[in-house]
Amino acid sequence: MLVVNNLVKKYGKKTAVDSISFTVNMGEIYGLIGPNGAGKTTTLRIIATLLTPTAGSVVVDGIDVTKNPLEVRRRISYLPEEAGAYPYMTGEEYLVFISKLYDPENYKDIAVEAEELSGLGDALKEKIKTYSKGMKRRLQLARSLAVKPRLAILDEPTSGIDVLYSLEIREQIRRYAKQHGITILLSSHNMLEVEDLCDRVAIIYNGKIIAEGTVKEIINKVSAYNLEEAFARLVRHAR
Ligand code: ATP
Repeated sequence: MLVVNNLVKKYGKKTAVDSISFTVNMGEIYGLIGPNGAGKTTTLRIIATLLTPTAGSVVVDGIDVTKNPLEVRRRISYLPEEAGAYPYMTGEEYLVFISKLYDPENYKDIAVEAEELSGLGDALKEKIKTYSKGMKRRLQLARSLAVKPRLAILDEPTSGIDVLYSLEIREQIRRYAKQHGITILLSSHNMLEVEDLCDRVAIIYNGKIIAEGTVKEIINKVSAYNLEEAFARLVRHAR
């Protein structure tokens, strides 16, 4: 579903992504983890067609992101790290608006599904400017999944969301991936979440992939107790 090959991104003299390669199979949940500034968001934004790579290639569902970004956009949804929604719309209006953009004919079904997924209930009738950070995140995540993309790119999907709802969100991501054959690429700083959710993981440090595999493989590689410990050891070793 996704093939990233020797991807490089430079911002002036700074190399944010330094020749990384990985593939994500159809229906897989794949996690990118790494310390602050490692290059995760840059990688996700290139895959989402919002940034052009300096070198290398990214192919989504057989389509090259630089050659045919519009076709790629039809197949993906992207949840940015800091997604803004229109403050003067209600949550409900926003979900209808986004659903119409994706599918003008069947937008009602998508919007209803997104409303349910958001778990926001009566708050959907309120203006988004009155929402907490977590409520806005729930709205954004709901629209990212309800449109049923081929590939959902989720940059820190549960950041700012409380523990109980994070658990629900994980369950939703898992269920959606399975039920609708959606491939998920996500980044997260929450190792518990990644351990629980991801089929495979890549650890990025300083723009390079320093470890890749199933959570179990990564833990075993450095004889750690859990992913958090393995992550800390691998990153310290790479410094
Ligand atoms: P975090 O976990 O903190 O969100 P990240 O892994 O997502 O970090 P990126 O946002 O991809 O990291 O940033 C990678 C590197 O590129 C950092 O050194 C950052 O300062 C730099 N960078 C990111 N965006 C720009 C930009 N627009 N211009 C210049 N440098 C940038």
